[in-house]
Amino acid sequence: RHDYVRKPEWLKIRLNMNQDFRGIKDLVRTERLHTVCEEAKCPNIHECWADRKTATFMILGDICTRACRFCAVKTGRPTELDLREPERVADSVLKMKLRHVVVTAVARDDLSDGGASVFAETIRAIRRKVPYCTIEVLPSDLKGDDASIQTLMDAKPDIFDHNVETVRRLTRSVRAIAKYDRSLAVLKRVKELSPNTPTKSSIMVGLGETREEILQTMDDLLDNKVDIMVIGQYLQPTRKHLDVVRYYSPEEFEELRQIALQKGFRHCEAGPLARSSYHADEQVSEESRQ
Ligand code: SF4
Ligand code: SF4
Repeated sequence: RHDYVRKPEWLKIRLNMNQDFRGIKDLVRTERLHTVCEEAKCPNIHECWADRKTATFMILGDICTRACRFCAVKTGRPTELDLREPERVADSVLKMKLRHVVVTAVARDDLSDGGASVFAETIRAIRRKVPYCTIEVLPSDLKGDDASIQTLMDAKPDIFDHNVETVRRLTRSVRAIAKYDRSLAVLKRVKELSPNTPTKSSIMVGLGETREEILQTMDDLLDNKVDIMVIGQYLQPTRKHLDVVRYYSPEEFEELRQIALQKGFRHCEAGPLARSSYHADEQVSEESRQ
């Protein structure tokens, strides 16, 4: 165990709750929607919701068919599909006045398309109601199923994001069901189907990976034409989850960011609090904003 690893100062941030922010929280609750921002107790929530007008919705329920050892989402048998969910997400995007929205989901291995058609419907509903809002999707690996990937890409998201989460060697102990190479293959396939859609992948550091392994992951992502990389600190959600092996300093993150850019990523977000959706609004290409 690594209980001696103490949380450093730069991870202790204060939440600034103003009236505007409380109003948005109430709205999400009345629409019975799940946001990663709230459920993962994301430390960036005020900056994202109130200042940047961006949020991450989790569709397809809040029970996941997988049980990754870093993730706080509940595991079990998912509830039935809510076919009104895409419209309710779109209504909330409108009421929250979002300029950029991230749509993610639990893994739904119980559904034949992994939920790809609900992703597609959600994208279309947001486009209809809030045409100026850019849309990023962050699905599971959809079991690597080509038809499911196509169903989702037919709806034309502005950014496609799928996380490898960690380096190759640690994948089996960190992620459930997902495979490192399958995730790379999904990212590659999306680029083949839609070469102009930026692709993005994130890793968490602090799980016991080496520096060489992080650099190798960068190369693997670049070999599969990934445009944007995010590197954030792993934080243990509860004591039942994997221990934090190490906290990286802000300087180390900055060094990794510089290496990622030198290697050829178009954009890299790296920092203790960097998350796949953090500062995502800055990563949308100019073309898709028009
Ligand atoms: Fe939500 Fe992502 Fe922002 Fe966190 S970084 S508040 S999860 S949009
Ligand atoms: Fe969490 Fe996603 Fe893993 Fe499910 S598949 S446990 S939501 S990280």
